[in-house]
Parts: sequence; C-alpha cells; structure tokens
Amino acid sequence: MPVDYSDQRRWSLETQLVRGATERSQFSETSEAMFLNSGYVYSSAEEAENAFNGTLERFVYSRFRNPTVAMFERRLALIEGAEECRAVASGMAAVFASLACQLSAGDRLVSSRALFGSCHYICAELLPRFGIKTELIDGRDHDAWKNALAKPAQAVFLESPSNPGLEVIDIRAVCDLAHKAGATVVVDNVFATPVLQKPLTMGADVIVYSATKHIDGQGRCLGGAVLGTKQFIVDKLTPFMRHTGPSLSPFNAWVFLKGLETLDMRVRQHSANATKVAAYLATNRRLSKLLYPGLPSHPQHNLAMSQMSAPGNVIAFEVDGGKAAAFKVLNALKIIDISNNLGDAKSLICHPATTTHQRLKPEERALVGITDGFVRLSVGLENPDDLIADLDAALKV
Ligand SMILES: *Cc1c(COP(=O)(O)O)cnc(C)c1O
Repeated sequence: MPVDYSDQRRWSLETQLVRGATERSQFSETSEAMFLNSGYVYSSAEEAENAFNGTLERFVYSRFRNPTVAMFERRLALIEGAEECRAVASGMAAVFASLACQLSAGDRLVSSRALFGSCHYICAELLPRFGIKTELIDGRDHDAWKNALAKPAQAVFLESPSNPGLEVIDIRAVCDLAHKAGATVVVDNVFATPVLQKPLTMGADVIVYSATKHIDGQGRCLGGAVLGTKQFIVDKLTPFMRHTGPSLSPFNAWVFLKGLETLDMRVRQHSANATKVAAYLATNRRLSKLLYPGLPSHPQHNLAMSQMSAPGNVIAFEVDGGKAAAFKVLNALKIIDISNNLGDAKSLICHPATTTHQRLKPEERALVGITDGFVRLSVGLENPDDLIADLDAALKV
C-alpha cells in the first residue's frame, strides 16, 4: 500500500489535479475506479492476522482506509504539499477530528473569533465541556494573539478568510507566535481553497477542508479532509478516526476526485466572476458595507493578496435597512438562489444572522460584524453580467 509519489510532487498543480495519485485496477480503466465496498477478503487466516498486527500493510476495513478514498487523500496531499491526508465525512468532522485528536483536558486552545457557526460551537461550547480551555480572540489583532499566546497553548485554530465576514489573518505571524507557545496551528482553508492559498508554506501545521464546498463544487456530496505531517496524521489523527468512525463514503470520494480535475479552472473562474460582481456592488448606494478581499476597500486587502493568489468567490455586504431590507433583496433575486452552501457552480446567497450564525448570541454576532442587514454571496459560474443584472434589479425593489 505505501506508494511513492515523489516525482508527482514536481508536477504543476493542474497536472496533479487531473492525474495525481491515480491508481488503476487490473482492468486498466481511464477514469478513477469506485471501490464501493466496506470490507476486504484475505487469502488465509495468517494474512488477516498479519494485516491486523501491522506486519502487512493492506486494506482491512473501509472505516480505516478504502482505495477510492485513499486516491482522493493522496491527490489532495500532493496539491497541498502535505505529507499525509485523511478524508472524513464532512468539513465539520474534519474540524472536530483535527482538534479532538490532539487535545486533552487541561489543554489550551486559542482561536480567532470569526468562525463558521459550527466551528464556533466546537471551540466555544463543545471542547470546553471536555475540560479544554478555549480563548476566542479578534484574529485581525496582532496584540491579541501575542497576549493569548504569551502563555503556553497546545493548539491554535483559525479561518482566513473567515466565514462569513471575510476577516483575514496574518497566518505567518500567528504561526510564529503559536510555535513559540508550543501550539499546533490548524487552519480552516475552505474559503481560499487549496488552489488560492497554501498555509503550510506560511508555517501552518494542519489544514482542514470542507470538500462539500469548492472541491465538489457542484452541490452533490458532503465531505472533508485533514492534512499535515506524517507524524500528526498517522500518530494522532488516524487512531482517533479509526475508533470514532467519521469515515468518508467511497462514492463521495469518487465525486471529489472528479471535482479535483476541474478545481483550478473553476476556482479561478469563480474568483474572476466575483471580482466583476464586487466591482458592480461597489457602485451600489443601497449597501452600507461591502467586503471582498480583492477590493482595495477591504481593510486587509494587502494582507489578503499577499497570502492568496486570487481573492476567491465569496462577497459579503450589508443592505441598508436591516433584516427586512436584506430579506427583500434575497426574495427578489431570480437567478441567485437562497442557500447556506457555498463554492457551488450556482450562485448562492444567505442571511447569516438567521441561518448559519443564528445560534450565536447577538453580542457575539456583533463582534464579528454579522449585523441584521448582512448577507453572504457565493458567486458561481454563471455569466457575471447576468448575476449583476439580477442583483441590480433586486437591490431596486
Ligand atoms: C462549510 C464550512 C465548514 C463545514 O463543512 P461541512 O462540509 O458543511 O461540514 C467548515 N468551515 C468553513 C469555513 C465552512 O465554510
């Protein structure tokens, strides 16, 4: 089972996305095969014994590994430049496993406050129930990181750009402080995608993805992934995963493998479309706030563009007039769908205060800029002129 992909590490990204880690069965199929099986058979009882005592490396059960899932993991590891990857059943399974596999009661976790709703739940509510001390801070504030990491910590968790407020964190600076405090840095890289931002090159230790978003990109399957060093993935994450079972379905892994083939093209087009839509929104007077990392008006535009090769496809804005005005705009759209997903070929819009972030207390929402008029737009692959016309008409209602 151990395969050497060292020459594929020298391929360019586009080639890795299409061909990386492809393993063909005895039937020499062109496209990746889907191994939709839970178990495996052994030619002898001795072989089964050796598979379980570790002297023989082979597939034993799909809760542990599966050939199609392994192909997806190896391709993702190649494009991320990580030693190892394990795929899981959702982005949230990835976030939870990446933290729970390494933290114990009494440990300290420092996290940025601007997080996806469920990430906030894990850091602020769930982990503290197990005796993990969590500190949530303003991730844009260097001094806040400095203060929080003046004491020893075991883990740091952050999203950059954050969901949905598009806050950008200086990943390199935070990693330096975190490592001095003894912490492992976990970066949720969902908004930037593996195409636009490489946190491992900035010092991050562990990367997590929701593959549900751009990696699938066409709204079909849930999935996630955790990437890092062999030591982290094999020693810490793998035993946690084996025994708790957040395994990815081989069917979903197969869909993601096909999604990876077009990821670079799609993400760059998504980003180009979003740039056009953001330029239009910047001219609209109904908006009291507009956030897009590609606009010079974004408070951290320079930092964002030094960390990402393109600004991505998510735009956030605030409609003047609060919740009623925001709902009016959402309800008037004819092309853009109301949906809490993102990274899809279809443009999707949502009102975080009443959906993805409704669990947060109003004070917590206020701290990360999620006001009642705030909406998040995931720009898709339609013609951006049609999206602009749709938004323009809806903003006039
Ligand atoms: C969607 C999302 C997740 C969770 O992913 P699921 O696949 O829905 O579980 C985690 N982090 C961020 C930043 C997300 O946008």
